[in-house]
Amino acid sequence: MDFISQRLQALSPSATLAMSQKSNELKAQGIDVINLSVGEPDFFTPDHIKEAAKQAVDDNFSFYSPVPGYLSLRQAISDKLKNENNLDFTPEQIVVGNGAKQSLCNTVLCLVNHGDEVIIPTPAWVSYVQMVNLCGGKSVLVPATIETDFKITPEQLENAITEKSKLIILCSPSNPTGSIYSKEELAALAAVLARHPQVMIIADEIYEHINYVGKHESLAQFPELKDRVAVINGVSKAYAMTGWRIGYVAAPLWLAKAVNKLQGQYTSGASSIAQKAAEAAYRGSQQCVEDMRQAFMRRRDLITGLLQEIPGMELRVPHGAFYVFPKVDAFFGKRCGDTVINDAGDLAIYLLEKAHVASVAGDAFCCPGYLRMSYATSDENIIEAVARIKAALAELK
Ligand code: PMP
Ligand code: GLU
Repeated sequence: MDFISQRLQALSPSATLAMSQKSNELKAQGIDVINLSVGEPDFFTPDHIKEAAKQAVDDNFSFYSPVPGYLSLRQAISDKLKNENNLDFTPEQIVVGNGAKQSLCNTVLCLVNHGDEVIIPTPAWVSYVQMVNLCGGKSVLVPATIETDFKITPEQLENAITEKSKLIILCSPSNPTGSIYSKEELAALAAVLARHPQVMIIADEIYEHINYVGKHESLAQFPELKDRVAVINGVSKAYAMTGWRIGYVAAPLWLAKAVNKLQGQYTSGASSIAQKAAEAAYRGSQQCVEDMRQAFMRRRDLITGLLQEIPGMELRVPHGAFYVFPKVDAFFGKRCGDTVINDAGDLAIYLLEKAHVASVAGDAFCCPGYLRMSYATSDENIIEAVARIKAALAELK
C-alpha cells in the first residue's frame, strides 16, 4: 500500500540540493570535494545585517510576525521597488515568505488549477516544473538554445500560448544560464503577452543584483502588463543571506491577498529575527551588494577563461547570476575504463567521482547536454576545480 499522495509522487527531489548533499557526504568521508553544484554566495552576511539581527533578539522580536511580514519590512521593500526599479507596489501588495522559493511556490499554488498550462522558457531553474506538478498543472517548455544566448523569441512565446495558458514563469538574470533579457527583448515579450490577457506572469528576479552588463530591467515595468505581473525577489543572493530564508512576492492586490491567505494556513509569517535582518539589508548601505557583484564578475572571467581552454567544452560568457552552463555533449559516447559517458548525468557523476568536483547535469534544468557549475566560490577553488575537470576529461577516449 502506498500512502504517499499522488501529488507528492508527481514531485521529483531538487537535483541541486541532492548533488550538494552528495558532495557534503563525500566531504564528511574525508574526500576533498570542490562543490560547484549548489548556487549560493560563499560570502558571509555583511556585519551591519548581522548586528540588526542581534539587536532584534535583544529587542524581543520573538513573537509571531504578521503573516505577510512586518509592515516596516514591506515598506522597505516597497521603497526598494520604487527607488531601484521604478515599480509601484504598496506594502499591502507584498508578502514576505521563507525565501524566494516559498514565495514562488505560494504564487504558483494560488494561480494554477489542475490542467492549466504554465509556460516555462528553458533552460529553467529546477523547481519551476515541480511547483507546477504540485498543482496538477502542465508545464509547456519553450526551449532556448546556446545559439540564441538561451533566450526565447517573441515568436516562440506566441506559438506556446493557448487558451489553456494560465501563467508564464520568466527568470532574468537566469539560473542556470546567466542570460539577461534586455529592455527591448522584454518589451517584445510583453507585447506578445499583452495580446493574451488570460496569462499571468511571474518574473523571478532573485539574481537582479548579480548583473554584469548594466541596470536590471523588470518585466513588471511595462504598462500594458499592469496588474498581471508578480515579481519574486529576496535577500538570499544579493546580500549573501541564503540561510536566513527571506524572500517576497510583489503582486496585484488580489493575488497578494491570496498568497497571504495560503501562507496564513501553511507556514505563518517568516522568522521575526530574519525579517529584521532583511530590513537592515534593504535600508542600509548597498556597497556590500556592489562589492560582491564585482567579486562574482572577476570569478566569472576567471572560470570562463579557464573552461574555454578545455577542448570539447562549448561556452557562452554569462551576463549575470553566478553560473556557467557549458555544452558538454562532445564527451558523450566516450569512456574511461569501464565508465561510459552517455549523458550529462553520467558526466556529472564521473566528474564527482574522478575529479571530486560537484556540478549539476543540465537535465535537471530541462536542458540535456549541458552542465551547470556555480562559481560562487574562491579563486583557488575555481582554479583547482577546472584543472581537475580538465584532467578528468582528458582521460575520456
Ligand atoms: N529562484 C531561483 C532562480 C533561484 O536560483 C533560487 C535559489 N535557490 C530561488 C528562486 C530561491 O531563492 P531562496 O533561497 O530565496 O529561496
Ligand atoms: N538556487 C540555488 C541553486 O539553484 C539553490 C538550490 C535550490 O534551492 O534548489 O542551486
